[in-house]
Amino acid sequence: MIPRLFVEHALAIGATVTADERAHHYLRNVMRRAADDALVLFNGRDGEFEAEITAIDKRKAEIRVTRLRRAQDGAADITLCFAPLKKDAVDFLVEKATELGVAAFQPVITRRTVASRLNLERLRANAIEAAEQSERLTVPEVRAPLAFDALLEAWQPNRHMVLCAEAGPAAPIADAFKALTRDVSQPNAWAIFCGPEGGFHVSELDRLRDLPFVTAVGLGPRILRADTAALTALAVFQAILGDGKLRPPHPMAPIGGGVDPGAGGGE
Ligand code: SAH
Repeated sequence: MIPRLFVEHALAIGATVTADERAHHYLRNVMRRAADDALVLFNGRDGEFEAEITAIDKRKAEIRVTRLRRAQDGAADITLCFAPLKKDAVDFLVEKATELGVAAFQPVITRRTVASRLNLERLRANAIEAAEQSERLTVPEVRAPLAFDALLEAWQPNRHMVLCAEAGPAAPIADAFKALTRDVSQPNAWAIFCGPEGGFHVSELDRLRDLPFVTAVGLGPRILRADTAALTALAVFQAILGDGKLRPPHPMAPIGGGVDPGAGGGE
């Protein structure tokens, strides 16, 4: 398996990169890589590159960037607004929503949010790991929590909010997204908003529904857990408005090996 790592450095062919502590530890102690071994780097800005280790010891690892593998793409601008959940549920949500291509996570404190503290650093580390493994070209941003009112005060009206509404009037989610694709003034910035385990307060749903940039949607007759609801909405978004038509990149041919890069199964 060729390691794939997110780095903060600028990337270009011929550039040399000194691995940060996390990348160094991963390459040397976890993957036990040596000089001349191949890897893949991305930084969320410059695209994805093939690279090779030029030197590695217990203090540091030096890497040379050799070839552009994929240019940076214009992934959908989709923010997930969610009420903080219990530790395991929020870890699960960040990992899976990253796989599903979310661009940013915005925790929101609603009336029924059970105020558990969020460890943003841990969530950011989870997001980096999921981005590395899912062949994303970006790492989603994990933002600091906002109060419900502050979220709405700061809202940019050109970002369309799809509100997962467990009660009251709501369009079936697929119908709502298909209608939005036919809208000529279709926004290109999106958000999905899911409530906490205890649900939205009825006053919150009423207030959101009245806003011009909100579409309330339903996810069927069952009450889903907040993490299930968010992931379901994201999957439907990607299928209808996002990048659901694209295919994963070819697996990288081993350097020096004679394997057809198109023959792999993607694992
Ligand atoms: N405890 C609440 C349910 C909360 S479910 C109750 O019993 O009514 C957590 C969140 O998931 C909800 O706030 C909503 O945003 C979303 N959700 C769950 N099921 C849904 C459905 N069938 N349709 C739309 N949104 C749903």
